[in-house]
Amino acid sequence: MADQKRVVLKMSGEALASASSEETLDAGVVERFAVEISEARADLDIELAVVVGGGNIWRGTTGVGAGMDRATSDTMGMLATVINALALQDALEKHGQDTRVLTAVHMAEVAEPYIRRRAIRHLEKGRVVLLAAGMGNPYFTTDTSAALRAAEIEADLLFKGTHGGVDGVYSADPRLEPTATRFDEISFMDIVAKDLRVMDLTAVTFCKDNGLPIRVFDLMREGNLRRALSGEQIGTLVR
Ligand code: UDP
Repeated sequence: MADQKRVVLKMSGEALASASSEETLDAGVVERFAVEISEARADLDIELAVVVGGGNIWRGTTGVGAGMDRATSDTMGMLATVINALALQDALEKHGQDTRVLTAVHMAEVAEPYIRRRAIRHLEKGRVVLLAAGMGNPYFTTDTSAALRAAEIEADLLFKGTHGGVDGVYSADPRLEPTATRFDEISFMDIVAKDLRVMDLTAVTFCKDNGLPIRVFDLMREGNLRRALSGEQIGTLVR
């Protein structure tokens, strides 16, 4: 594990939604992630920051489709990520895992502001750092926020957990193209050149420019989070 001591996990907001009901935030799912994360933290020598999305509650494009101003709608999306981060915090702390929520949009009564050096200090103390509100700027996604934060805090690896049943990077969308094959490893350039939509391309090019490898894996399969964090080569490594 020495080569991935400090890592960032990007979790989509939709990963926290219920698969079987209309619940946008499923307590059982949040609980499962809290167990997997706290066990991994207890057993493995890793420092973990989690960037959580907000797509289960709101996406910028939702409002834009209804005629809203993009910046306003994106701000709503950023606030949605804070709701998810607080839910994860609550569940993690119930399992004895210390956490801090750091937000890119300041809300002092709710959480600490994101300050790079403070985030690193929390990680060094063994806290799971939950990074919320994206990067505080509209027109971006939490994929890009995760890439930026991972570079800032000098993470060794960015984990992108998928939730739509696609367990890595494929030659085409396997849900539409049954003959699509999964790559064990792929270069940043190939993702961009082939326009493989596994992750926001802004995030992919950022990781390329900053030499930050990404492991894409299926977050929803029980035990996978633990497997990925322990260094198992599941899914696809992008580098
Ligand atoms: N968002 C933003 N700036 C950021 C990060 C997120 O404006 O730096 C907004 C954007 O509207 C996005 C929403 O927050 O649609 C929720 O984030 P995202 O779609 O990345 O969540 P996920 O798909 O991972 O659940």
